[in-house]
Amino acid sequence: MIKFLDLEKINSRFRDEIDSRIKTILDKGWYLQGEENEIFAQNFAKFCGTKYCIGVANGLDAINLIIRAYGFKEGDEIIVPSNTYIATILAISENGCKPVLVEPDINTYNINPDLIEEKITPKTKAIMVVHLYGQAVKMDKVWEIAKKYNLKVIEDSAQAHGAGVNVGGKLKRVGNLSDASAFSFYPGKNLGCMGDGGCVTTNDEELFKKVKAIANYGSDRKYHHIYKGVNSRLDEIQAAVLDVKLKYLDEDNKKRREISKYYIENIKNDKIILPLSHSELDSEAFQHSHVWHVFAVRTDNRDEFQKYLADNGIQTIIHYPTPPHKQEAYREWNHLSYPISEEIHRTIISIPISPVMTDEEVKKVVEVVNGYK
Ligand SMILES: *Cc1c(COP(=O)(O)O)cnc(C)c1O
Repeated sequence: MIKFLDLEKINSRFRDEIDSRIKTILDKGWYLQGEENEIFAQNFAKFCGTKYCIGVANGLDAINLIIRAYGFKEGDEIIVPSNTYIATILAISENGCKPVLVEPDINTYNINPDLIEEKITPKTKAIMVVHLYGQAVKMDKVWEIAKKYNLKVIEDSAQAHGAGVNVGGKLKRVGNLSDASAFSFYPGKNLGCMGDGGCVTTNDEELFKKVKAIANYGSDRKYHHIYKGVNSRLDEIQAAVLDVKLKYLDEDNKKRREISKYYIENIKNDKIILPLSHSELDSEAFQHSHVWHVFAVRTDNRDEFQKYLADNGIQTIIHYPTPPHKQEAYREWNHLSYPISEEIHRTIISIPISPVMTDEEVKKVVEVVNGYK
């Protein structure tokens, strides 16, 4: 069986380094808000190109804390893609704000910037983009609209650690393409820890201080509470694991790009829609803009295709079978229609991609996919 993602294999490559960092923590007996958090936050901020990074408990908290720290409240509207993992939207509604859904571009699966402006009202406070499946959103238009209407731009970068766009000939990474960005370090992400974890990156000093305080019981110094805060911390052990793995992230993403290139060049089946065209392969954008968190293809008889792959020893996952507006949790939206999102959710399926796949496994996936009739 070719696993969708072999986490044991992914992390065992770093066993010695992780063991030694965890031993240091055991020896010191310091488990929260210590040196490991400081080191990782510094290194991850440097990696993203931002001034600040704060480790938090998970990706959902990271989005939540950004919204809370900006002071968005009941009735404020935040623009968000209709095609995303539900966490993005949950964080908005949890703060009492209204998620305003915008359809994606069917080719990139990311928010369609041309559809944003018509959704802006006097209540709009921010545009939240999601770099879905690992592909950086084309930000120019988003920035332009945000500037025109004086809106904050927030990134949900949970699926795109290390991806970047070309800004004036320089690589600018996700996490540094907005006012504030949320990351998740859930084990299966491109940069994943061994449990839950997340962080916020920003260049905004005030936001940095506020997120840091709110995440720590609203406290800016010990036993002094300026906000009704929460407890959202990144454990020292998780910070250490992430700091080890961060050094290999670019290399791992490169491997993902090589596999995706092989898939795009070699999968030849009329029934399968690939995520990127051949002509896009050699472009500058392909080099950096996509880190292939998942390799999602589309096909009409998705369930039949999934069964065929399973019968032939290939594990797949569907990201995601039901769009947020059709979920029971958002009953009030169930009658609404977002046809592009719905089409994506009806047809999408992710085939294996990971930095530890062997050449034989990659070839086998192509052979099996090409044999689907
Ligand atoms: C994983 C993910 C999250 C949530 O991260 P957690 O760490 O699981 O809370 C948020 N947004 C997107 C797009 C994700 O993929």
